[in-house]
Amino acid sequence: MITDTRPGTARRASRRRVVVVGAGVTGLITAVRCVLAGHRVTVLDRGAIPHPGSSSFDQHRAIRALDPADPERTRRAALAHHRWLELETLLCGSRPGTGFYRRVGVLTGWPGDEVTAAAAVAAHAGLSVKLVEPDEFPHIRFPVGFRGVLELDAGVLLADRVLWTAARWLAGHPEARLRPWCPVSSVDTETGRVVLADGTVERGDLVLIAGGPWSRALVDLPTVLHRQTMVYLRSPDELTRWWDTAPSAGRIGADGRAWLLPSGGGTVLKISTDAACREVSTVDDRADEDELRWSERIMAADILTDMDRYTVAAVKRCHYAVDAHTGTAHLVRVGPAVWARAASGGDGFRTAPLVADRIVDALRHTQSPLRISTGRNTT
Ligand SMILES: Cc1cc2nc3c(=O)[nH]c(=O)nc-3n(C[C@H](O)[C@H](O)[C@H](O)COP(=O)(O)OP(=O)(O)OC[C@H]3O[C@@H](n4cnc5c(N)ncnc54)[C@H](O)[C@@H]3O)c2cc1C
Repeated sequence: MITDTRPGTARRASRRRVVVVGAGVTGLITAVRCVLAGHRVTVLDRGAIPHPGSSSFDQHRAIRALDPADPERTRRAALAHHRWLELETLLCGSRPGTGFYRRVGVLTGWPGDEVTAAAAVAAHAGLSVKLVEPDEFPHIRFPVGFRGVLELDAGVLLADRVLWTAARWLAGHPEARLRPWCPVSSVDTETGRVVLADGTVERGDLVLIAGGPWSRALVDLPTVLHRQTMVYLRSPDELTRWWDTAPSAGRIGADGRAWLLPSGGGTVLKISTDAACREVSTVDDRADEDELRWSERIMAADILTDMDRYTVAAVKRCHYAVDAHTGTAHLVRVGPAVWARAASGGDGFRTAPLVADRIVDALRHTQSPLRISTGRNTT
């Protein structure tokens, strides 16, 4: 449960100084939660806060819990939906139209003979789902023989709005200090000493390295980098209303590897496919790569019916890192008081509030200097 802690009401004896490196969704949401728990937080970013070049800065990101292969993960992930609702109320208030979470649901395609098992996992985890037929969503293409599972307590976060509202909330809080344009050149994992590019130093009782795919320059953890191309589409006028209430969708297209995020809330429709996701060695936005080829591949993935009625508004690429051993996200304690989210994974928005929970928990259960057992966590 997230509660607002007014300045002065925090238990000062247990107040800690937290330094967060990176103001993407992980860093900002963790900073908000730490401030709410009564701690003092400094957030550093190499660019503006929020930074349009971060991997979090985009129109939208999907939030869903269902993972039929992993019932326990599904149960844990269901909590993330509630965390986001709480954060929305805290950061945006409850006035209609001011929020950042469009609860339009998330639809996933499943082979007809697997759909019942997927629904059973959902029921076991307490998720509200509905089985649907492809013809209920005539503008989305499913693989032949597939049916849909519609997760109702799920939807789309307006990602850049999340970042702006969190940054604004922190900027107005006396216990938070935002330091944009402060590239960090090193973090001493033993001492928690954070050295900025200008030679100045920040120290905290706990340091979180949340530099997204750029974290590998600060902490030596084996990660694999992925680059994905996305195509943004304008829908024909007569379909605008349909798309405004449509769910996010995954496991769609001719081969069941595609996904889409619907328009609405001031965004345009976005499509991509796992076939346009590749391993790369560097996060180089200027890398000379044939983006046109990747976007053509996405357009050919048969994701929408009547594709020729849509116009391409933009093509963008984005990166994310995963743990080299597990292929998922991790949160690792890399020193006595230093934690790293070097791998945020392909679902870093969904899990950001859970990372914040872990960091607040670590602060709550330890005395300074922190004594926390080292370990890898796949939150
Ligand atoms: C195509 C694509 C689709 C995705 N879809 C989804 C989805 O539907 N749902 C979902 O939950 N997730 C999704 N993700 C994953 C999600 O976007 C990321 O996991 C998440 O945004 C990572 O956030 P972060 O805060 O960890 O890193 P980032 O957002 O990259 O933030 C890192 C910040 O650290 C700063 N920084 C880096 N190095 C330094 C330094 N040395 N000094 C100071 N500052 C530094 C950067 O400027 C940046 O602002 C998707 C990712 C991609 C690529």
